[in-house]
Amino acid sequence: MNVPSRREYRTVIVGAGIVGLFTAYHLLRAGAGPVLVLDRGFLSSGASGRNGGGVRQQWETRATVRLAREAVAAYRRFGADFGYNIWFRQGGYLFLGGTDADMARLRKVNEVVRSEGLDARLLDPAGVIRIAPELNPTGIAGGAFLPTDGTLYPFPAVWGVYEAVRRLGGEVVLGLEARGVRTDAGRVVGVTTDAGEVTTGHVVNAAGGWSAEFAARAGLSVPNVASRHEILATEPLKPFLDPMIVRLGDGLYFSQTMRGEIVGGLSLPHPPGTEGGMPTSPEFLRAFARAMVGLVPALRHLGVLRAWSGFYDDTPDGLPVIGEDPRLPGFVQANGFGGHGFMLAPATTLRVARSVLGEPTDLDPALFSPGRFRTPGGPRPAEGLQLG
Ligand SMILES: Cc1cc2nc3c(=O)[nH]c(=O)nc-3n(C[C@H](O)[C@H](O)[C@H](O)COP(=O)(O)OP(=O)(O)OC[C@H]3O[C@@H](n4cnc5c(N)ncnc54)[C@H](O)[C@@H]3O)c2cc1C
Repeated sequence: MNVPSRREYRTVIVGAGIVGLFTAYHLLRAGAGPVLVLDRGFLSSGASGRNGGGVRQQWETRATVRLAREAVAAYRRFGADFGYNIWFRQGGYLFLGGTDADMARLRKVNEVVRSEGLDARLLDPAGVIRIAPELNPTGIAGGAFLPTDGTLYPFPAVWGVYEAVRRLGGEVVLGLEARGVRTDAGRVVGVTTDAGEVTTGHVVNAAGGWSAEFAARAGLSVPNVASRHEILATEPLKPFLDPMIVRLGDGLYFSQTMRGEIVGGLSLPHPPGTEGGMPTSPEFLRAFARAMVGLVPALRHLGVLRAWSGFYDDTPDGLPVIGEDPRLPGFVQANGFGGHGFMLAPATTLRVARSVLGEPTDLDPALFSPGRFRTPGGPRPAEGLQLG
């Protein structure tokens, strides 16, 4: 069994996905060690090793646009900061609208994004086809495009942050489960693991799709719900597609990687929760193929190399949960990232680290705090662009 080297840490982070690792990185850079990151799986066994690598700044919520813009800057610097090439390619995100209602929604998003100083564009159908000439124009009412959005390879990003955490003196123990949280006088004093208990004043819940499960182990009920999403990669083709394409109507999304594969998904309704594991299904292959070939007829003979699935960690208002849980001092939430935690991780985890250190953050508590779900009337509806 993998065992932590110490009995006491300043902070224990549960989950060695991109969120847990980046949080450890920021804490260690602030000189706030010792830090233990533990994960019951292997590196990238959660959503951080199962996603589409999309990085976008087009959102309905201004605060998310700002976090995403900061994250884009961080991913641009990643090679210099971490010594890993994450193949971050800013080919843009192209949203497709099929109806007047879609276009009204994209117009609202575009206004928010432009008012934040980003060069987002609204497109008519001809403008869409100019950017992606292989698309079948039937059913396209228009689109929205931001050229500085892009895609990256998630694996080297996880490896780069993992290596940096270890270089900075952090400890990452894989294959070790966090069983619960020990409290004394109403605050966190330790974490119980399969290898015994470690003493700590802070535990960070970066357990991704299992965040509600881990919160429950600390006696906290949260509204996060895991939803399973399937995704696939095709055989490689000569590069022909720069942007990530996302269709509003059915959530179809795909991009072409720098190796030439098409990587994409389409959300099917699956029973909520993690109990069913992470399989993939023939229904998904059929639905994706139908949607994809309708939109890009030239791909009709393309073979699928592999398909897989992973969990989003959804919240009722579509925004993440960041900060100390007011019900349990020392318990810091860093979850609820839906299908977009990778693209926001460098920026959101800086705020998670500040919360651990007891420092103020610039996040609006009404949008991001763990307490917002328990305010009278609950959270306001906030971020609806939960696609691609
Ligand atoms: C199909 C798919 C496509 C996606 N596409 C994109 C995209 O294009 N762009 C984007 O930004 N995001 C995307 N996402 C979402 C993104 O992958 C996640 O939001 C992000 O990776 C979450 O990172 P995390 O570190 O919070 O969680 P994870 O990477 O899931 O890590 C959580 C870890 O916690 C561990 N764990 C859980 N419970 C315990 C416990 N009790 N003890 C020890 N360890 C525990 C798990 O083993 C896991 O490794 C996608 C997700 C999926 C599934």
